[in-house]
Amino acid sequence: MTSFSQELRQWPVDRVRHFIRSMNRPELVARALTGGNLTTGDFAALLSPAAATHLETMARRAALLTRRRFGRIMQMYAPLYVSNHCVNSCLYCGFNCRNRVERTKLTVAEAEAEAAVLARQGFRHLLLVSGEDRRAVPVDYFVRLVRKLQAKFASVAIELYPLEEAEYRALVEAGVDSLTLYQETYQEEEYEKFHPAGPKRDFSQRLGSAERAARAGITFLGVGALLGLADWRIDSFYTGLHARWLTRHYWRQQASVSFPRLRQATGGFAPPQPVSDAELVQIICAQRLFLPDAGLVLSTREPSGLRDRLVALGITRISAGSKTTPGGYSRDHGGEPQFAVQDQRSPAEVRQALRRQGFDPVDKDWDAAYH
Ligand code: SF4
Repeated sequence: MTSFSQELRQWPVDRVRHFIRSMNRPELVARALTGGNLTTGDFAALLSPAAATHLETMARRAALLTRRRFGRIMQMYAPLYVSNHCVNSCLYCGFNCRNRVERTKLTVAEAEAEAAVLARQGFRHLLLVSGEDRRAVPVDYFVRLVRKLQAKFASVAIELYPLEEAEYRALVEAGVDSLTLYQETYQEEEYEKFHPAGPKRDFSQRLGSAERAARAGITFLGVGALLGLADWRIDSFYTGLHARWLTRHYWRQQASVSFPRLRQATGGFAPPQPVSDAELVQIICAQRLFLPDAGLVLSTREPSGLRDRLVALGITRISAGSKTTPGGYSRDHGGEPQFAVQDQRSPAEVRQALRRQGFDPVDKDWDAAYH
């Protein structure tokens, strides 16, 4: 079987830039909005500047397509940060090993207590998040934790450092069914700039993670790029290609796309290529139209008013009431968060807002039993 890295080599950054430029024509955007299955050319047109004047049509079509494929269901999940120890120095992240922040690692019992808080709030889908430090939080730690959690949650997802296939398999056997791993940027030269030291410098190792996870039996594969780091049109194009490639090569799995938009982080990092609200709308709609069956995920990085508008465009999964410090749910130790949560509403308030818009927020689905 080929790997996505081979496909990526077919699409060097300059080719993608020129390709999007060549599709930057209103008639090509209009064509993309009337066809059925979108080609890569249609997708490039929807990501081009010419699509900015078609946002209303894009939004209507994206919403309609999502309702047809997913109904009014909105899957709820909560992140659980277990450790902010990290050996990497990603310039945009508050947990960067060069930042002087209080470092915390939850014991398995402490993490269980955090999960219990989330279970009481009604969550049945949990996302375990950790910085990269194999000594502080080895794979075995997650295996032990997931074994404890899997009976209480319908789905346990991980957002960890890249693992080997056998390690993913051990986590699947413990009860993990979902992976989230952003490439940050698919543009390798840019990637090197933002990851000056640590194991995360290995672009290829990160890129192959979703494939190793799929081979190990992880069912849900989440990809994404950090919006604001590099040219969002190019990174969104690659993200769509990646999700489509995973879907085509691992048909038993479901790919999903997240839209993490960068904000100011500890250490004074400002996003070099900020993404506006209108551009975020364009990205979400373009991904939905290109990937009709993909899950689209929105976190609490976005403020409440904007989230309420974005969910209608094609989002199928959202978090609520998130804390981005280890131990943040059961105690307020004032630690530095990985990113500032913008939507400060409680999970109950988010569910209410979704119901007001006609959505059916669900904490448990039957995927676990089905698979
Ligand atoms: S983004 Fe992840 S790997 Fe990078 S510094 Fe932050 S926690 Fe560490």
